[in-house]
Amino acid sequence: MRGAALKTVADLEAVNLVPAESGLDPVAEKYAIGITPAVLDLMDRSDPADPIARQFVPTVAELQTTPEERADPIGDLCHSPVEGIVHRYPDRVLLKAVHVCPVYCRFCFRREMVGPQGLGTLTGSELDAAMDYIASHEEIWEVILTGGDPLVLSPRRLKSLMERLAAIEHVRIVRFHTRVPVVEPERVNDEMVAALLASGKTTYLAVHANHPREFSPDARLAFRRLVDGGVVLISQSVLLRGVNDDVDTLAALMRGFVENRIKPYYLHHPDLAPGTSHFRIGIEEGQKLVAALRGRISGLCQPTYVLDIPGGHGKADIGAGTVAGGDGCFTVRDWQGREHAYPPAE
Ligand SMILES: *Cc1c(COP(=O)(O)O)cnc(C)c1O
Ligand code: SF4
Repeated sequence: MRGAALKTVADLEAVNLVPAESGLDPVAEKYAIGITPAVLDLMDRSDPADPIARQFVPTVAELQTTPEERADPIGDLCHSPVEGIVHRYPDRVLLKAVHVCPVYCRFCFRREMVGPQGLGTLTGSELDAAMDYIASHEEIWEVILTGGDPLVLSPRRLKSLMERLAAIEHVRIVRFHTRVPVVEPERVNDEMVAALLASGKTTYLAVHANHPREFSPDARLAFRRLVDGGVVLISQSVLLRGVNDDVDTLAALMRGFVENRIKPYYLHHPDLAPGTSHFRIGIEEGQKLVAALRGRISGLCQPTYVLDIPGGHGKADIGAGTVAGGDGCFTVRDWQGREHAYPPAE
């Protein structure tokens, strides 16, 4: 039997993840803490710079905020027509049914909204209103369940949510964004997989992982259950200083996804979330890394490097600028940085 998740500074002290008198109480007051037994198992306790611990163990560096950081870094709140819905692009909405997660990532872009003191779970009537919104907007082709982590819901509750979406004809795709297969893989059992598929729509699931060591045997088993059950898996990672900001780690991460039948989808530039400047790298540095990936690993393993533009303007592809020029004449840069001319159209 595995232990419970660590949720307080005292819990972290009790397992020697942080020293006594760590000064972390003010951090814990602002941002939720959550470390599952599976994540604790992944940590290398002998490495003070362990990339797994760095993602989940709070530090006093989080008390430092910089002027450009904001509580709502990607502008969710200005595109929320009803509680729980974010409608930024015409054909798809986010449905945020819960604002809790099994773990709390120290770099989280929604860190001001998630956690026990966060935005909470939608009430029955709020959920009704969200479903009405989706049903009455025929342009909504895809519903993206995020949060928080939607897979903290019981299979029974997920199934009932999916059955409500099943009744909305114009919704064709249901997508989940989750960290559960990695951080609490035991939740992904047959009942959970059946619930995810209960809408009868095409179901995609974006697995959030940032380091190749997150692919534990239990996580691999969870991925296998999902794919074999009929869920299409795609990846989602955040480029993070001290976690995966080198080509070897990124290459191993992307290959790990592909080996587990997870198609790399997005590599996010870190958002301007409060108290996360120690995780951020520059866009130029990020572009160099993704350009190097191009020559290094299969096309199957290439993610799209994206930035969520602060203020709610949506995502932009910020991968290396490989084409320059004007007047119809172009210079195209290859993966080794060499430039080649490309002729204009007739
Ligand atoms: C990121 C995001 C999406 C999904 O974007 P894709 O490019 O389709 O993955 C949808 N809505 C909002 C509000 C988002 O922030
Ligand atoms: S699982 Fe996602 S929403 Fe939850 S804390 Fe981590 S990044 Fe934030």
